[in-house]
Amino acid sequence: MLKSSQEMITIKKRFLITILTVLVFCILCSLFIKRTYTKTEYGLFDTVCTVTVTDRKDNTEEYMGILRSIDNELNIYSEESPVYKLNHGEEVVLSDDIFAHLEKATNYSNKMPGYFDITLNPVSQLWNNAIDNIEPPQDAEAMREYIGTKNIILDSESNTAKITKEGASITLGATAKGFATTKLLDEIKKNRAESALINLGGNIYAHGTKPDGSLWTVGIADPVNPAVSAVILECKDLAVITSGDYERYFEKDGKRYHHIIDPATLMPAESGIHSATAIGRDAELCDIMSTALFVADVNGAKEICLEHGIDAILISDDKIYYTNGAEDLIKSADEKYALIKL
Ligand code: AMP
Ligand code: MG
Repeated sequence: MLKSSQEMITIKKRFLITILTVLVFCILCSLFIKRTYTKTEYGLFDTVCTVTVTDRKDNTEEYMGILRSIDNELNIYSEESPVYKLNHGEEVVLSDDIFAHLEKATNYSNKMPGYFDITLNPVSQLWNNAIDNIEPPQDAEAMREYIGTKNIILDSESNTAKITKEGASITLGATAKGFATTKLLDEIKKNRAESALINLGGNIYAHGTKPDGSLWTVGIADPVNPAVSAVILECKDLAVITSGDYERYFEKDGKRYHHIIDPATLMPAESGIHSATAIGRDAELCDIMSTALFVADVNGAKEICLEHGIDAILISDDKIYYTNGAEDLIKSADEKYALIKL
C-alpha cells in the first residue's frame, strides 16, 4: 500500500536526522578519541629513531621533521650544516635554539673538562678512523694543542659562533640526541599529548604513562650482549640516556678501543665502566652527563650525580651501581651482576 506523502516526508526527515547524528558523532569522536601512532626513521643521528605518541591526531611526521632538521644542523659531516662550517673556520649565525645548545655544551665542557669536552673532535676523528681501520692511532697526543673551549668564541648578542684556531673543531655527538629529545618533547607537550615514548637509538624519554596508565618499561642494554637488557626500569616523565663501550669499538690484542674519549689521556676512557646511564627530567642534560659519567670512575660518577641532580646506573664487569633515585625505578636486574648502591 502506498504511504501518504506526509508519511514519506516524515520518513525522509527521520532518515536525515539519523545521518546527521551519526555524522556529528563521528566528528566528535575524531576530535576526542586518542589513538597511538608510531613512526620510525633509520639513519637520523646515525641510528634508528622511533617516536610513539598517543594523540587525537597523527603528528608523527611533524615530529620526525623536527629530528631531521636538528640532525641536519648539528651534523659535522654535512657541508651545509652550520657546525660543519664552524669546524671549517667560518663565523656562523645560529638559530636561537642551536645557539643555546652550543652555549650549554660549551659551558659544561668548561665545568667538567676532565670528563666532557666538545672540542675533543680532532681526537674523536682519529679514533673513528681507528675503529674503521681496526688499528689504534699513533699520534693522538699530537691533537692536544687543539683541545679546549678557549678556541671557541660565542656571541649571544648576535648568536654567532667562531673557532679561532685552525685545526680545532667541535663535535656534538655526545649531546645532539638529548637536545633533539628535549625539542621533540616540547612539541609533544604543545600538542597536549599526555603519553609518548621517544627512542633515539636506545636513548629514551618516557613522557607520562602508557595509554593504559601503567608505567613505561625501559631496558638498559647488557654491555656483554646489548640485544638483551641487564636492567629493566619502570618510569614516567624521565629521560634514560646511556653511553656504552659496546656502541662503536674494535678489539685488538684482547683490548677494546671504543668511541668515548678520556680528555686526560686522549684515549678511549678506561674507568672500569662499560655503560653509564643518566636518568632525569632534562634529556639534554642527561645526554651530556651520560658521557661524563662514563669517563668518570664510580666515585667521580657519584659526585657528578650529586652536583647535577641526576640519577645514574653504571655497569662494570660484574656490578650494577645505582643511585638512590634509580633504585626506586629498578624492576629487575640480571642476576649475574651484583647490585651496589652508589
Ligand atoms: P655518547 O654516546 O652520548 O656518550 O657520545 C659519544 C660521542 O661523543 C662520540 O662518538 C664522540 O663524537 C663524542 N665524544 C667522545 N668522547 C667525548 C667526551 N669525553 N666529551 C664529549 N664528547 C665526546
Ligand atoms: Mg651523551
